[in-house]
Amino acid sequence: MSVEEEVMRIQKKLNKMSSGDGTGQEQALELLKVLQKLPVNLEVLTKTRIGMTVNALRKSSSDDEVISLSKTLIKNWKKFLSGPNTPNSKDTAGSSKKSKEKEEKPRELELKDKEKEKKMPTTFPPVSSNTTDAVRLKCRELLSTAVRGDGEIPEGCASPEDLAEELEEAIYQEFRNTDMRYKNRVRSRVANLKDTKNPGLRMNFLVGVIPASRLAVMTAEEMASDEMKSLRNKFLKEAINDAQLATVQGTKTDLLKCGKCKKRNCTYNQVQTRSADEPMTTFVMCNECGNRWKFC
Ligand SMILES: [Zn+2]
Repeated sequence: MSVEEEVMRIQKKLNKMSSGDGTGQEQALELLKVLQKLPVNLEVLTKTRIGMTVNALRKSSSDDEVISLSKTLIKNWKKFLSGPNTPNSKDTAGSSKKSKEKEEKPRELELKDKEKEKKMPTTFPPVSSNTTDAVRLKCRELLSTAVRGDGEIPEGCASPEDLAEELEEAIYQEFRNTDMRYKNRVRSRVANLKDTKNPGLRMNFLVGVIPASRLAVMTAEEMASDEMKSLRNKFLKEAINDAQLATVQGTKTDLLKCGKCKKRNCTYNQVQTRSADEPMTTFVMCNECGNRWKFC
């Protein structure tokens, strides 16, 4: 029996289990152990889609051992998917291998399909934290440092590391490589986030007024102070008007994103905590999970 057939045999049994009532967890564990020993390669992964089966099992199972081994298997296979991209460069070097090059192409397409699947959070766990590419990791580090800035981070925000990862992932998804355009895009985000004349950009990104997907594609003009100020001013003006009407209840907004539950359903209040000529402090509360933070 080939590896592929063996995997499909196991897959059939696993499919029955993840759709069932949760019984047979012991058998599921045994099957996963067999899977772990099989020399599963990229081709088998792509053809059988066993990754999705195991992920479905992981989601439906209540057995700790099954969940843990499923996670391990998925993690190992993901390394496969992001790892062997180098053989392509070898192929283009040899001119005598034209026929072989043709054979490689469908596989390359299948790999791209698989990568698309990975992007969908419903099929595979999010992969944004899972790169081993040195350039990408370096870029995340640079972005993270820029987001962290002078260290003043409003309470309740997502961490600079998480935000940097999300931003880098969004940029990478556009170019799908780390060439000059990718690097330039990262570099301009870093420069603008660090720009001391434009602290609004960094703060707006931190508190979630600007999502990573948006910051990833903003032009230099859009990132520049004026737009950031006006976005902020709009937010402040709205707050002042509403504050005059209802100071206690606060103002509902979808401009702010909760760092904990990532939803955009917040209420904020602005309070003059220091002298009148200083900016007001904004207190925010998430209506979904009750998370509270402030910024000024
Ligand atoms: Zn929340």
